[in-house]
Amino acid sequence: MNNGNWLKQIIEETRQLIEQAASGAQRTIVLSPEVVAMLENVRPQAAPSPPFSRETVSEEPADYETGSDLAELEREVAQCTKCGLAKCRTQTVFGDGSPEAKLVFVGEAPGAEEDRQGRPFVGRAGQLLTDIIEKGMKLRRRDVYICNVLKCRPPGNRNPSPEEVYYCEPYLIRQLEIIQPKVICALGKYAAQTLLKNTAPVSRLRGRWWEYHGIPLRVTYHPAYLLRNPNDKKECWDDVKEIVKVLKGEATP
Ligand code: SF4
Repeated sequence: MNNGNWLKQIIEETRQLIEQAASGAQRTIVLSPEVVAMLENVRPQAAPSPPFSRETVSEEPADYETGSDLAELEREVAQCTKCGLAKCRTQTVFGDGSPEAKLVFVGEAPGAEEDRQGRPFVGRAGQLLTDIIEKGMKLRRRDVYICNVLKCRPPGNRNPSPEEVYYCEPYLIRQLEIIQPKVICALGKYAAQTLLKNTAPVSRLRGRWWEYHGIPLRVTYHPAYLLRNPNDKKECWDDVKEIVKVLKGEATP
């Protein structure tokens, strides 16, 4: 058999193998003796020397390490059973966006749709948050980071219990340590009260700068609240304008 025929035969047998795997049929394939003999002659080749030494190239960009640290933490969270919510979740909802984000939005906990999709702030409230980010702040959603205090959905969307926050908040703190944002925006009463350990309503917590683990924090209304109370959108707009000024270096917290 010449080289062209060998190649065709290998391609054909590989195609059959892929089709079998895709159809869920048997995972074995009978290879022709000629192909087996040829594959046995294949020996791994020594890797070619790199054209430059390690010392001549710059270190991996910071985003690679940040991204992999975040991915590792996400895998850890996906296995977490520290509180009772592990039993009723469909999946954990870790966070979404850029590991290099300068701005992190923190909400309360996943809802039903987030639990289903595994992503925070999807559905109508998520769309409003996207509009706030993209139309209001002129940022791209994928350039910020969005997460919640709790990574699992409380059944019936009830408020998180102090015990659940106690066990889950360390994950949020580690997320923020990895991302190192310039600003945090707490969305809604529960996120604000949890992060600030303060029981005041959002109307009293918003309108000024706070600090969470050394990171400037601003409070604004939760998008779900704004859907029910559109008159408060103006105050939310005031809040995000202050955040944008700090992100642009036009103001200090
Ligand atoms: S809510 Fe947090 S602490 Fe509780 S099981 Fe989920 S990831 Fe773990």
